[in-house]
Amino acid sequence: MELKKRPLLTAGQIRKKVEEIAQRISADYAGRDLLLIAVLKGSLIFASDLMRRLTVPSSVDFIRARSYCQTHSQGRCDFLLLPEQPVTGRHVLVIEDIIDTGLTARCIVDYLAAQNPASLEICTLLDKPARRNVQIHLRYVGFAIDNEFVVGYGMDYEEQGRNRPDIHVLLGD
Ligand code: 5GP
Ligand code: MG
Repeated sequence: MELKKRPLLTAGQIRKKVEEIAQRISADYAGRDLLLIAVLKGSLIFASDLMRRLTVPSSVDFIRARSYCQTHSQGRCDFLLLPEQPVTGRHVLVIEDIIDTGLTARCIVDYLAAQNPASLEICTLLDKPARRNVQIHLRYVGFAIDNEFVVGYGMDYEEQGRNRPDIHVLLGD
């Protein structure tokens, strides 16, 4: 069944933004070795496009977490996959597809911070500031968007749509 959707960002707009972010990261981390921690599954496409545009030496690892809202500002999360490499003493950049309530990113950052990285920042392609429940600093943000559910460029609706090169808003009936 084809779901109703409205175009939000074209592949060209995304490509241009990824290039801009990659240039900023490359300048900010010049002379340092970066460890990218891509948050699966949604950041798969963003992370792979971004890392190919970086000019600083960088390695990549993965994390996967599922967060549960408990109260308005508190959450819990389960880790489904943890990074293989230790992050202690490394310059870590967490790569996210979208920050919504902020709970998942908060859990991931708290987990990584406990291992004493040399630095720890977040890079997200999309941000929904209206939905934020927990305070979290986002060093790199591609696009701030309204409170709408989006699919494409790695982001899914029931596991479909990740392979679309553009981003759409999913519309209700
Ligand atoms: P948070 O913990 O910030 O509320 O949610 C983060 C995760 O929820 C994101 O990494 C993403 O996997 C999922 N998510 C939040 N908003 C959207 C959306 O609009 N579309 C899709 N496909 N996933 C979303
Ligand atoms: Mg995600």
